[in-house]
Amino acid sequence: MSLPLFRTPGSWAKLVELVFFPSFCRLCGGLLEKPGERVVCTDCWGKVRPHRSSICPSCGRFYEGAGESHICRKCVDRRPPFCVHRSCGRYDGTLKDMVLLFKYRRFSILGKGLARFAFQTLGGDEELWRGVDAMVPVPLHPRRKRERGFNQARVFAGELAKLKGLDLVDGALIKVRNVPPQTSLEAGDRAENVHGAYLVGREERVRGKVLLLADDVYTTGSTLKECSRTLLAAGAKEVRAITIAQA
Ligand SMILES: [Zn+2]
Ligand SMILES: [Zn+2]
Repeated sequence: MSLPLFRTPGSWAKLVELVFFPSFCRLCGGLLEKPGERVVCTDCWGKVRPHRSSICPSCGRFYEGAGESHICRKCVDRRPPFCVHRSCGRYDGTLKDMVLLFKYRRFSILGKGLARFAFQTLGGDEELWRGVDAMVPVPLHPRRKRERGFNQARVFAGELAKLKGLDLVDGALIKVRNVPPQTSLEAGDRAENVHGAYLVGREERVRGKVLLLADDVYTTGSTLKECSRTLLAAGAKEVRAITIAQA
């Protein structure tokens, strides 16, 4: 019987690791045995699907079913302060599980895989990337960051910026008010909740620049809108936005 997996020294090392430190996929429970697998197995990553049907080209809202992409009614009534937003996929199924693991279970290493997914899904979208000077993560309030251990948007934006060869402007946009989590609020209360919650500490880092804001989940867009307004008021030339998933 041949065991090609265990023929090279590298795979012996993997075998030793498997015997003494077995680790399992946090989503399906399967053994992590392939090279480079961490936290989640390759099969589960394969179940993460990008969104492919029509969208609003302005706010990036997904439409159900077929049909042409067209500006949504909300954007006709009032254009958002960011000029373009795109999400990679719908916030459900495996992508949702992945984001939850990443955000709440402190598996910051998943940020790398999620950035790769974003790069594969939206890396070629010229409306999003053309002329971008730097990426800006949506900040967490320092207290929330201490509790969580890291800012998931910062990790995601940092990895994606690396893949795109862009600068990351971190620490210029700051959250000055620790507001209740947006997920705990109804849609109507979200805009009010984040109003005045952000400011730009170092305007010279954003002035005159085309910036791409990055966050994990897009729901009503209140957070991205408020961050965009804050950056534009501080002199940013243009703000666009990218999120991993949209609810
Ligand atoms: Zn799995
Ligand atoms: Zn729209």
